[in-house]
This record gives sequence, C-alpha cells and structure tokens, in this order.
Amino acid sequence: MDQIVLRHVTKRFTTKTLGDIVAVDDFNLNVQEGECFSFLGPSGCGKSTTLRMIAGFEDLSEGEIELCGRPVSVKSKNLYVPPEDRGLGMVFQAFAVWPHMNVFENVAFPLRIQKMNRADIDKKVADALRHTNLTGLEKVYPSDLSGGQQQRIALARAIVTQPKVMLLDEPLSNLDPKLRESMRFEIKELQRKFNFTIIFVTHDQSEAMAISDRMMVCDMGRIMQIDTPENLYNKPVNRFVHSFLGESTFLNVVIKDGQVYAEGDMEHPLGLDIPDGAAEKMVVATRPNSIELTGGSDGYRTHVEKRIFLTDRTEYLVPVGGQMLKVQTPHRVSFAEGESCCVKLESPMWYPAEDEQAEKERLRRQLI
Ligand code: ATP
Repeated sequence: MDQIVLRHVTKRFTTKTLGDIVAVDDFNLNVQEGECFSFLGPSGCGKSTTLRMIAGFEDLSEGEIELCGRPVSVKSKNLYVPPEDRGLGMVFQAFAVWPHMNVFENVAFPLRIQKMNRADIDKKVADALRHTNLTGLEKVYPSDLSGGQQQRIALARAIVTQPKVMLLDEPLSNLDPKLRESMRFEIKELQRKFNFTIIFVTHDQSEAMAISDRMMVCDMGRIMQIDTPENLYNKPVNRFVHSFLGESTFLNVVIKDGQVYAEGDMEHPLGLDIPDGAAEKMVVATRPNSIELTGGSDGYRTHVEKRIFLTDRTEYLVPVGGQMLKVQTPHRVSFAEGESCCVKLESPMWYPAEDEQAEKERLRRQLI
C-alpha cells in the first residue's frame, strides 16, 4: 500500500534579490508502507522544501499530498491538515531536543500535547527509551549527554507516538563518521521493530545508499530519477545522476567519420562503438575503477601523468586528448609517473554534451 503519495506537487518562491524560483517542480512519487525512501541531491535542489510540504510546515503552490490514504494537502480544494494532525514522527537537522527538559520530559512531550493520562505516558516513554538504549537516563539533561545520545532522544521522541511515517532531515549531520554509521543501523533496527515508513533527507550519497530501499535524486527542483540504489549507480539516466552517485570520470568526445575521438586529439580514435542517435559532440562516462590500464597496445596510447596511492587502490591521472582521465586500479597494477600505457574504456555510458546553462542555474539556486 502507498503510504505517501505526491501528485504534481509544485512550490514556487519569490525572492527579493534573485527573482522567482520553482523550488519543487511537479513532483510525483509514491512511497510504500515500510519503505525507507531517501531524497538526495545538491544544496538547493528542493529536498527540504518537499519534506516540509509533506510535514505540513509549507503550503503547496500546486498539487496534492496523501498520507496513509488520507489527503492532507490539496491545493485545488484549499485543504490543509496542520502538522500536529498528520500523524508523523520527525527528526530534523541538528539535535532537536529541548535543553531545559530532562530526557523523560523531552520524550513525553508529544504525549502531553495529546493529553494522554500519566500511567500511559510513563509506559510509552519507558518503551521508547528502551528501544533507543536510553533507559536509566530519564532524569539527565541533554547537555550532559553525548551527540549520539542526544540524537537518540530525538529519535525516542519521534517514535513515542508510534507514527506510521517518519520524516528524517539530515538527522545524522552533527555526528562523527563512526557514530553516523552506528546510528544508521539503529534507525534501521527501529524501523524493523515498528515497521514505519521513512523519508530520509541527506546530502550524503553513501549514507543514502546504505539505508534506502529506493531513492529520489533531484536537481534544481526537478526529479531526475527514482530507483533502487543499485540501479541509480549502474543505470543512471543522465550525466547528473552519474556524477552524483559514486565516482565518475567523464570525457568530452567528438564523433567524426564513424570514429570516436577525445576532444583535443582528432588523430587517434578511442575505438569505441557509437550508440544509436549520438550527436557530433557527446560525453562518455565511466567509473574510474572500470577503466582498463595496460602496458600493451590495446586501447588509447598515453602515459601516466600522476600516480596517487590510496589506501585500497591506486589512482592515476592519464591525459586523453586535452583532458585528464581518472583511473583507479588495484595495487597489483602498477605504473610509474611518466610511464607509457594504454587505456580502454569498458562499456561506457553516453550523455549529451555539457549544458552550461544548467550549471549556471544550479549555482544561482545555491546562492538564494
Ligand atoms: P539544502 O540541502 O541546502 O537544505 P535543499 O535541497 O533542501 O537544500 P531547499 O531548501 O528545498 O533545498 O531549497 C530549494 C530552493 O528553494 C533553493 O533555491 C532555496 O534557496 C529556495 N527556498 C527555500 N525556501 C525558501 C524561502 N522560504 N524563500 C525563498 N526561497 C526559498
């Protein structure tokens, strides 16, 4: 069953200095019961605005939102259910805990708003604290606790009402990398126990990939692709998604007389098959670890410009035409700086040549 449905959801803002902006442009998506669904994209792409509209903190310019089968925002009917009546659990950026309340009071707060009786509050708070490993800390104030514990208070407060949908906006951004990893695991454990649906907003692609069943990658207020982490990585629909997930290396190429050349070297073809419908100028995309680097004569002949030793692999920068290609190999493949070599691109993906206008617009949005 669909737990969260967005139909043609659009949000426009007018800013004084930089004019009009469509922050969220015609979003359509369905998130299923029990799913962990991430919003991923660069700053200014519309992630938080979308989450705020789902939470009810922001009105829509157009479209409608349904939660657990119930319409909560329908612009055409002027229907708007306030956040407190949407039945959501939320953990937003930073440690959203109240410093003047102890752990028990922080977690009990949503139940007191519901005017629940004392015995039920005691029981539900005890349950939530147990599930978040905070039992015994009821009387302690947040300032005496670690970052991870403070974030667990926010989680306990979000689960105490047993919501069906949990909205998490960069909930781990203030934690150090090790703690982030263990909190990710704890969130998934809580989800397994309570079977809520999660929307998770993050800048961090590896975090999103680790936690999500499906992800939405957006750019400049538009949905680029919705898919599983694996498909987004292996079958990105465009250059933007390719570059956003994992490491990418791109080569501008020119197609002439049935051959593919790297821009800057129209003498030595790359030996690639030309896909149907390719324009004269294209971009060829690969992952740095799927390029073959050999000492033989198979591929494009060049040399190693720079060699960088990384912990689990070696990275090489090799000139191809007027461009620099990034290649990563296991340590057993070893070339010295200046040594000649051949590069071969294994099943690359093809995209239209770079759109400078898009790059300018992306920058403008980050400035607003
Ligand atoms: P970040 O990761 O930096 O939080 P985001 O992807 O969540 O970015 P949003 O905060 O949703 O992006 O913003 C989308 C666009 O809408 C941005 O260009 C932003 O500047 C603009 N925007 C957001 N809120 C407002 C507002 N209240 N008034 C005007 N413009 C806004």
